[in-house]
Amino acid sequence: MNQVVTELYFASANQNKIKEVNALLPPSMVVRGIQGLVNGDLEETGETLQENALMKARAIYNLTGVPSFADDTGLEVDSLNGEPGVFSARYAGPQRNDADNINKLLSELKGKPSRKARFRTVIAFVNGDEQQLFEGIVNGRISEQLKGENGFGYDPVFVPDGGEQTFAEMSLTDKNAISHRGRAFRAFAAFMAQYA
Ligand code: IMP
Repeated sequence: MNQVVTELYFASANQNKIKEVNALLPPSMVVRGIQGLVNGDLEETGETLQENALMKARAIYNLTGVPSFADDTGLEVDSLNGEPGVFSARYAGPQRNDADNINKLLSELKGKPSRKARFRTVIAFVNGDEQQLFEGIVNGRISEQLKGENGFGYDPVFVPDGGEQTFAEMSLTDKNAISHRGRAFRAFAAFMAQYA
């Protein structure tokens, strides 16, 4: 029989993400964020989303001894050779500013024939020697203009395949149903059901 898990750390201080994943996991499990546990940001010096997610989950596991997980997300644009990718948050510089990042993206894409892109989320779960990776992808394209008021990051310029709306024009529920993070969280939650 598998170990029973009742408590998990999520290497994030983002209350919205913590709530979202809590709602998907078996009701017997409580997800705790890392506010108050870690000062400042966790190290994200990996060259891939996988490396960063594993680095963060391992750091929290080593600190707490409790099963821990972490996520990392990137926007990959085909005609920019997969950029900004792992650098999505800091694309326009260390200030991590959404508007600056979008401006840089739109300017880099000027005149490019393809605007195809995808969001990819990787989740790493660490429990002692065990580690598992989960992935969620949504394919789409980068619009010419910003549209919509919801969401964050690149949402105003990302149009998922199958429609014309940007993520920023969708409700959070509609976005989560198809989003990279929604998909990765659901794959992770399905895996965690064996520990309930
Ligand atoms: P993180 O790994 O969740 O912190 O995401 C890294 C960066 O990717 C963020 O700072 C955003 O710029 C971008 N990003 C992640 N998820 C989304 C999303 O759902 N919509 C728009 N941008 C996102």
